[in-house]
Amino acid sequence: MIRLEALVKTYTIAGTKLRALDGIDLEIVQGDMVAIMGPSGSGKSTLMNILGCLDRPDSGRYFLEEKDVAKLGKDDLANIRSQRIGFVFQSFNLLPRMDAVENVELPLLYANRQNTKDLARAALEIVGLKDRMHHEPNQLSGGQRQRVAIARSIVNDPAIILADEPTGNLDTKTGDEIMRLFTDLNAQGRTIVIVTHEPDVAKYCRLQIHLRDGRILESKLNPEFGKT
Ligand code: ADP
Ligand code: MG
Repeated sequence: MIRLEALVKTYTIAGTKLRALDGIDLEIVQGDMVAIMGPSGSGKSTLMNILGCLDRPDSGRYFLEEKDVAKLGKDDLANIRSQRIGFVFQSFNLLPRMDAVENVELPLLYANRQNTKDLARAALEIVGLKDRMHHEPNQLSGGQRQRVAIARSIVNDPAIILADEPTGNLDTKTGDEIMRLFTDLNAQGRTIVIVTHEPDVAKYCRLQIHLRDGRILESKLNPEFGKT
């Protein structure tokens, strides 16, 4: 589903070059649940931005569903972002003064889809917010806001969900609930990649990839996966 080969991404700050990603080789199979771990500054977000086609590498190759992403034009990339990838962020990124249904509808409206209200309501039911459809973000708890964001990420039925520190703004109990929701979505066949620096979050994932200074330090299977 995803294949990275010798991926390099450099940033230049005040004339100094910094390799945020320094030769990443990685394969993510369809239906997997993957944690990207590592200390602050290790390249996790840079990697997610490239996986999400929000940014391009300097060198190396990225294949998404067999397509060489470097060969795609602006419109193709925009279509991939809106139809094949669901994004979840630490800070939820919901629009205020729009209720839950309207927030979840947005990716469908961008993609010119029909029946947007029905699809948005169905996604909100999946994340357990059937009775909060018309609440605005400031009327919802942090965990409920993240559920709205997750509903928005799945409403287009994407191939892959990318979540950058989705529990970073939540307390432990709420974070666990969100991880259980991701586990359910994964059990239904969705491919999920989650950035976290918390082992308690990564324990929900089958594959755990540790980054350090833009390189993969370790990539290991979690023997506890599927037992909770
Ligand atoms: P993480 O998400 O693991 O904390 P990042 O991918 O955000 O790490 O950053 C990796 C490295 O790249 C860090 O040293 C960071 O300072 C640098 N970096 C990230 N984004 C930029 C940017 N837009 N411009 C310059 N340097 C950046
Ligand atoms: Mg980050």
